[in-house]
Amino acid sequence: MASSAIKHIIIVGGGSAGWLTAAMIAAEHQSALASGLQITLIESPDIAPIGVGEGTWPSMRDTLRKIGVSETDFIRECDASFKQGSRFDGWVNGAAEDYYFHPFVLPQGYGEANLVAGWQQQHASVPFADLVSFQPHLCVQGKAPKQASTPEFAAVANYGYHLDAGKFSEFLRKHCISHLGVRHVLDHVVAINSHSNGSGDIASLQTKLHGSLAGDLFVDCSGMQSLLLGQHFGVAFLSQKHVLFNDTALAVQIPYPDENSAIASQTISTAQDSGWIWDIGLPTRRGIGHVYSSTHTTDELAELALRNYIQKNGGPKDITTPRKLSFQPGYRQQFWHRNCVAIGLSAGFIEPLEASALALVELSATMLSEQMPVTRAAMDIAARRFNDAFTYRWERVIDFLKLHYVLTKRTDTDYWRDNCRTESIPERLRELMLLWRQHSPSRYDFIRVEEIFPSASYQYVLYGMGFQTEIPAMRTDKAERAAAYFREAATLADKMLAALPGNRDLIGHIVRHGLHKI
Ligand SMILES: Cc1cc2nc3c(=O)[nH]c(=O)nc-3n(C[C@H](O)[C@H](O)[C@H](O)COP(=O)(O)OP(=O)(O)OC[C@H]3O[C@@H](n4cnc5c(N)ncnc54)[C@H](O)[C@@H]3O)c2cc1C
Repeated sequence: MASSAIKHIIIVGGGSAGWLTAAMIAAEHQSALASGLQITLIESPDIAPIGVGEGTWPSMRDTLRKIGVSETDFIRECDASFKQGSRFDGWVNGAAEDYYFHPFVLPQGYGEANLVAGWQQQHASVPFADLVSFQPHLCVQGKAPKQASTPEFAAVANYGYHLDAGKFSEFLRKHCISHLGVRHVLDHVVAINSHSNGSGDIASLQTKLHGSLAGDLFVDCSGMQSLLLGQHFGVAFLSQKHVLFNDTALAVQIPYPDENSAIASQTISTAQDSGWIWDIGLPTRRGIGHVYSSTHTTDELAELALRNYIQKNGGPKDITTPRKLSFQPGYRQQFWHRNCVAIGLSAGFIEPLEASALALVELSATMLSEQMPVTRAAMDIAARRFNDAFTYRWERVIDFLKLHYVLTKRTDTDYWRDNCRTESIPERLRELMLLWRQHSPSRYDFIRVEEIFPSASYQYVLYGMGFQTEIPAMRTDKAERAAAYFREAATLADKMLAALPGNRDLIGHIVRHGLHKI
């Protein structure tokens, strides 16, 4: 068996994770050709995809380009808009002027000059992100990240998307089936058959209507139930509830006041007494949800906070009953076990504070695709490396999300007080925070290839929330270099504000006329 070739991959699950994984492997391994890897995706007609997950990272542009879709089609069919980062409201003390940006663009001249020292010593009264990056200025004015003449997937200002999750799965499904050679089986997996040779590998999946489907490698994209990795193999789930308390969400969709209302350029995340509210603008509606800790509040109070938020922020008085989603924050001890890899919610889920779930799907599908073992003989080595890479990434996601909480000055509820308790803060984060009192986050802190969050992201959050690094007075030449980058960011902001259209204008243009192909 060890020398048997990997020719047929079976993916269980037709949510965003299943279809993205299918598309990425199929495009890379030419599944549309008889000589390519064969891919079958089994999707239960009885279990709908989760249907939430509306924020992506800029990496999604590259993913969509690689799988061969047009950005125009994607924007039209997925009701997509542009996302240039996140704005965090009320996370420090809850006052009206308490907000900061985590934009997608790196600080100007990042790595070439110590911008943190320059900011602290020359411009401490200006918000950090506003000084070092042009992008917050575009966000404030609801600007698009490109012009109508900018080709598909190219950017003037780095961007990801906001999208309709249900439409996105549907869009990917159509593309996978009609262009990439993925076989789609609409059926329910009822049992998992192991190899008769006693290896423990999965041999086939038993379905209700299509009998047993045999494969060489199985990808578990079955959502939170983790059918193959969790239920069949019993791979342990590592709960992170002691670090990140949120385990419930109430989600609604609301209309805009009118069809010309501005579309926000960023996700808005507003702190609440026992959680936070996301606010995402699509072209046709807003998606709003309250993520909270069921240990710290009740569903009734959480819904009340959601309704209050909507009323205060331009929404209608009456909303539909919010949809409740419960989740266990955490991830699996391993993601690849024997001939089974879990991608998406089956691998784990942590609150969507920085919209990292789809980015992890993209990274997982990329590594699986690019490091695909040719035979079973190399699979355990590939699995070990995959597990090492993703355990590290999950730990970094948790550190980074927790950072948003530990920097708060809020002490008004148990939720915020508990979030700052030392025992709830991962040890590596505690250590880094000590270090960052003396040195600002840098490449020395995050040394792996494709770090999930770069040191620049830590800088945006730390200094956006008022963290102080004790940096000695700068040498004159270094201070001048930092000042030059601040001027450059300001000049770019002015130029772009003058040249870029509003989000709604550009999306309207794309819907009517499309973008140029690259
Ligand atoms: C409240 C909330 C907000 C979120 N916001 C974001 C965000 O802003 N950004 C982001 O990146 N992510 C976000 N996420 C995460 C995101 O929704 C998921 O990562 C993404 O949708 C992928 O889900 P999935 O495909 O793994 O699972 P699902 O969508 O649950 O799909 C599971 C699939 O498995 C199939 N299946 C299950 N059992 C069987 C069976 N026995 N036989 C056959 N098929 C089966 C089902 O039919 C379904 O097709 C959010 C999640 C939540 C809960």
